[in-house]
Amino acid sequence: MNLVLMGLPGAGKGTQAEKIVEKYGIPHISTGDMFRAAIKEGTELGLEAKSFMDKGELVPDQVTIGIVRERLSKEDCNKGFLLDGFPRTVAQADALEDILSELDKKIDYVINIDVDQSILMERLTGRRICKNCGATYHLVFNPPAKADECDRCGGELYQRADDNAETVKNRLDVNIKQTKPLLDFYETKGYLRNIDGQQEISKVFTDLDALLGGLL
Ligand SMILES: [Zn+2]
Repeated sequence: MNLVLMGLPGAGKGTQAEKIVEKYGIPHISTGDMFRAAIKEGTELGLEAKSFMDKGELVPDQVTIGIVRERLSKEDCNKGFLLDGFPRTVAQADALEDILSELDKKIDYVINIDVDQSILMERLTGRRICKNCGATYHLVFNPPAKADECDRCGGELYQRADDNAETVKNRLDVNIKQTKPLLDFYETKGYLRNIDGQQEISKVFTDLDALLGGLL
């Protein structure tokens, strides 16, 4: 079960990744975790990555791809893996094809958790935080009993600057622009499966589970 998981911010990718890993027992390989592990183990590539990160620079593709190769070569990936956050570009996707063919593996599915942009906007801009006690609410998923007032302490609720509509829209636009060529690439390869991410969390997983069950 060799999977790549894709989805825009707010699509619920993290939640579904957890559920897949729990049910199918394959390692969840997120870019962040992979870098942290390589650095901790002190591998040559890990140290190289660290030297760029310490300078606040982007880790070059060459290094990132090397770290992915090391990670996918580990024994726990023999029964499968769930890649999350990699690849980000078509060049990386090409490199991943090469790595997998070297390892005599192939991608089974690239799963895209699909949610309309308007719904992502609603999800990502709905968070409100209490100025007084820090309690968090969501206007749709966990609304306070009284508008703009904390249930716990009566404090005033505010929206973080990161969560305002303009910032969120920019973040989504950048992500959509970056992701589109990758989705096209995998569509052409025949790997892409879109899962409707606008349903309830449990229903999204039911659909995923039906797809993945077919691989067993
Ligand atoms: Zn409060």
